[in-house]
Amino acid sequence: MSEPTVPRLKTEEELGERQAEGLRWTVSHAYANSPFYRRRMEEAHVTPDDIRNLKDLRRLPFTTADDLQKGYPFPFLSVPFERVVRIHTSSGTTGKRKVLCYTQRDIDDWADMFARCFELAGLSRRDRVQIAVGYGLWTAGAGFQLGCERFGAMAVPVGPGNLDIHFEMLVDLQSTVLCCTASMGLLMADETERRGLRNRIALKKVIFGAERHSDAMRRRMEKGLGVEESFDIPGLTELYGPGTGLECRYHQGIHYWADYYILEIIDPNTLEPVKDGEVGEMVVTTLRKEAAPLIRYRTRDLTRSLSGRCPCGNIMPRHDRLLGRSDDMFIIRGVNVYPGQIDEYLSREKGVGSEYQVILDRGQDARDRMTLRVERAAGADPSEDASLAARIEEELRKHLLVRCKVQVEDYQGLPRTERKSRRVFDKR
Ligand code: ZN
Repeated sequence: MSEPTVPRLKTEEELGERQAEGLRWTVSHAYANSPFYRRRMEEAHVTPDDIRNLKDLRRLPFTTADDLQKGYPFPFLSVPFERVVRIHTSSGTTGKRKVLCYTQRDIDDWADMFARCFELAGLSRRDRVQIAVGYGLWTAGAGFQLGCERFGAMAVPVGPGNLDIHFEMLVDLQSTVLCCTASMGLLMADETERRGLRNRIALKKVIFGAERHSDAMRRRMEKGLGVEESFDIPGLTELYGPGTGLECRYHQGIHYWADYYILEIIDPNTLEPVKDGEVGEMVVTTLRKEAAPLIRYRTRDLTRSLSGRCPCGNIMPRHDRLLGRSDDMFIIRGVNVYPGQIDEYLSREKGVGSEYQVILDRGQDARDRMTLRVERAAGADPSEDASLAARIEEELRKHLLVRCKVQVEDYQGLPRTERKSRRVFDKR
């Protein structure tokens, strides 16, 4: 692996200094070179001179996807066009897509971060990395390829789709690592079994991301592909793309590269930081990004920070897997609840399936009520429903701090829905 542009850090103190320095640089850079950021800071009555250390971060205004779209096609641009060497985009769920610019240094930083991911996943330069994610305007394919080359392993850039070519490469080139989305990984696991190729491929690891996934999905993918382990990789186009963090071999959360960006976790309602370990919205501030720096950018993604040093000894801090979108949050009797937390709990509860519905309404006493409808697991005994419901009610009260009524429905009694389907029905 070639020497990265940013030297490695050894202690948390060094990391803090790096962050403070990067924060000062980013704020001065954005203020001097982006009319958008200058206006925002003027409106918030803050200048680069006010930002001296990490505590001052909270004086800066937030930015959002809406700001990106209003600035279409080159939002947050903070360098002259002569310095922009590439763009990537992501689709907005509504309106124009988000376009993000990169300078050559941004591309190099991204490659360095991504190479670090491959290193953390325990790859060597002898590994053959088959890339099954999208190339083109998306950040995924370009990012995996760039990182693989910077790391020094061999990239096999197949892209998504075309299973025949994938299996041809897996068998003939004996690729050892597969990079894919969770659903592509599952599809390839099923196809490996269907084609009877388990003993003819040489995969050892899967690096997968871009979607929420359950532990069950992950185990099925690992088993079907016959790999030793898999690694969850987060990615956000606004923040370079994938490669800004990865799980380590202990699989206890995602180490994120805090020498390239600061992560805050806030309550999406009050915009105040949540207590340590509580679920909230991820807000990122970049420390080196030139073309389109992010200052307190609200990602809408939910997670929680994981405190304490990881058993692997890496000083880079960790956050949990993504637990959904902050737009899905609801409040019941003053408690913030995220559907992802309910998903997570139900995926561990053997007596029920993964489908559920939340119904919020008001009782005769005018107080808010929450009903959780779940499905009995296949083959489970309906006479156990009452004790199952009581157990779930008790667990949710303990873990989410909400009181709710659980109704157990028949197996497959709830409507089958798409991934982004509506599960919360607010009738208040
Ligand atoms: Zn670790």
